[in-house]
Amino acid sequence: MAGSKYVCTTSSGKVRRVAVVGGGLAGLMTVIKLCEAGVPVDLFSLVPVKRSHSVCAQGGINASVNTKGEGDSPRVHFEETVLGGDFLAQQPPCLGMAEAAPGIVHLLDRMGVPFNRTPEGLLDFRRFGGTLYHRTAFAGATTGQQLLYALDEQVRRFETQGVEDAQGVAIPGEKMVRKFEFWDFVQLVLDDEGTCRGLVAQDLKSMEIRGFAADAVCLATGGPGIVFGRSTNSTINTGIANAIAYKQGAIYGNGELIQIHPTAIPGADKLRLISESARGEGGRIWVPKDAMDKRDPMQIPEKDRRYFLEDKYPLYKNLVPRDVASRELFKVCYGEKAGIMGRNEVYLDLTHIPEAMLRKKLAGILEIYEKFVGVSPYHNPMKVFPAVHYSMGGMWVDFERDERGSLKHGSPRNHATNITGLYNVGESDYQYHGGNRLGANSLLSTIYGGMVTGPAIASYVDNLDRSAFDLPESLFSKAEKAEQKKYDELASKDGDENPYGLHKELGEMMLRDVTIERHNPVLEKVIEKIGELEERYKNVAVVDSSAKANQAVPFMRHLEGMLILARVIAEGALARNECRGAHYKPDYDDKNKDATHPIGRDDQNWLRSTLAKWGGREGGRSKVEFIREFDYSLAGQRVHVTDQVDISLMALRKRDYTKKKAANAADPTAAPKPAEEAAKA
Ligand SMILES: Cc1cc2nc3c(=O)[nH]c(=O)nc-3n(C[C@H](O)[C@H](O)[C@H](O)COP(=O)(O)OP(=O)(O)OC[C@H]3O[C@@H](n4cnc5c(N)ncnc54)[C@H](O)[C@@H]3O)c2cc1C
Repeated sequence: MAGSKYVCTTSSGKVRRVAVVGGGLAGLMTVIKLCEAGVPVDLFSLVPVKRSHSVCAQGGINASVNTKGEGDSPRVHFEETVLGGDFLAQQPPCLGMAEAAPGIVHLLDRMGVPFNRTPEGLLDFRRFGGTLYHRTAFAGATTGQQLLYALDEQVRRFETQGVEDAQGVAIPGEKMVRKFEFWDFVQLVLDDEGTCRGLVAQDLKSMEIRGFAADAVCLATGGPGIVFGRSTNSTINTGIANAIAYKQGAIYGNGELIQIHPTAIPGADKLRLISESARGEGGRIWVPKDAMDKRDPMQIPEKDRRYFLEDKYPLYKNLVPRDVASRELFKVCYGEKAGIMGRNEVYLDLTHIPEAMLRKKLAGILEIYEKFVGVSPYHNPMKVFPAVHYSMGGMWVDFERDERGSLKHGSPRNHATNITGLYNVGESDYQYHGGNRLGANSLLSTIYGGMVTGPAIASYVDNLDRSAFDLPESLFSKAEKAEQKKYDELASKDGDENPYGLHKELGEMMLRDVTIERHNPVLEKVIEKIGELEERYKNVAVVDSSAKANQAVPFMRHLEGMLILARVIAEGALARNECRGAHYKPDYDDKNKDATHPIGRDDQNWLRSTLAKWGGREGGRSKVEFIREFDYSLAGQRVHVTDQVDISLMALRKRDYTKKKAANAADPTAAPKPAEEAAKA
């Protein structure tokens, strides 16, 4: 649509809108880009957008600005992202993301994000896992909050900006952004051809259910951490929106790839994160050499401590990628029973760092520890253990490559799902992080994703032959009625099962059996148990009968979605017989070892995405079909998709973080230089 002004009214004068579900960083950036293209937006969020889960992000956002003169570059950032993700990330979008990153951080800086600066006034950068470079820009340890508030301000500007018709005349009462906070997305409205034409949502205060026409819908609805009960995620992160779209035909990618963060505070209600930035600023992980050492940790001398990450990974030390670090912690605690006092805990120690520096750079997270544990992390090592943190998997989305192999900006295929007119971006999509996300790459992928998705949708809607706002009203009222009927049925359930109890059972099992180590016989039992929970779900009882602000019935709806996603995750884990990134199956660790398959690999799955398709229900139990290829249509074209990962930009290389630094090489995992290049060097 370059050069043309988007006509945002139909021939009958109705304003044509796009719906964005999700007001985290990904959703807000998508909204900004749509508005900049002149496309009015309806924005939906379960909570006030400033409370979206992005607000919790702590440590920072990656960009190879190289202010410290270390020789970092977007290319190195790209390669480390692909390597960290164990070659399952789609390479063209990753290259686009790494190349855009420095510009994104400078843009956020100009928007007023209070990034930490060096004494010279330059942006400061810290180290994060999976790289030896200082690449992570940060605003203390509350980076997500600062970014979210900055984007929220930009969106508020559009909430006050009027909509103009094709003649440039302001349309009375219409604004570029209409915000629907405390609304729960409950269904996509699909026409007879399966094209997405809008959505149905429920107001969580009045409980009104309403259909909304939209020329395209974009889900930016975050991760599904609550499927695992306790995690570092917010309680709203149930993954429900993706579960709904999946049930309506959208393909889910790599569901089994769930990131376990090495350092969280063990807790009965939630596992609160202690960001990787603590290790980025010099934090050290250790256990007493004698697990049953009763001394106060500050009294345990160096000789009696075991810095197990530093010993095994002499170069990356405490900053190996998260999958590697979490497995080591797990081995020490479960395998060797060498955690503190034999418990599942290790020390994360910052006490050797001056308090003033910790206060300047990490106060946001250290306050959390002090508040919830009641011990000062400035003067005592913290006790931590791994926790479910992030989903690399999510809705399958497409991309179009440009001639360099990067992302073709403005292509309607970017971030399109297989349902025409439905887009997905942020933690809820699957394409940037492969088998394991590098720390501080998520904030980047949400914002870059939004910058790409906005123009993609603008291009899609600009070329639509028929607007959703010209379709008969009955399409929306029918969907609305169907959802009202479902809601009324749920609200009148009076069986013997407590939905919160079912969720507890699900979460405990998923946390125990589908996280760091996976074993097929155990996964088979998990899948059977999910089926049993789905059957028991039919017999739930409503524990709150309020007509307004009812929280129990929406929770039941979310529980149904969590059960569906739990199956996608567990069956995906069963199907992937290999060790890759965060997905670790000890039984397959040594299989298929050869030059190109250095770690245990299953050839069936080597460099493939898991593509899950809803297979309906049988006796209350949901079914998943795994597919290897499919076609979808967009802008009058059929697009053929396979499960092969695009590895056109970077050759495979061994993922080995145990090496020592080679002379003159910043990164020991870097590709070996071809002979003549090496000779020149
Ligand atoms: C504790 C913590 C710290 C982190 N720190 C970092 C960090 O330092 N650096 C980094 O890169 N990453 C970090 N991450 C990861 C990162 O914060 C998230 O991946 C990212 O913020 C997700 O953004 P998002 O916009 O995709 O989704 P979210 O911010 O989760 O937003 C989702 C939105 O969707 C809405 N929504 C969901 N379902 C519905 C529905 N049914 N109807 C209506 N609205 C709905 C929600 O209301 C919300 O507005 C951290 C994660 C955690 C848990």
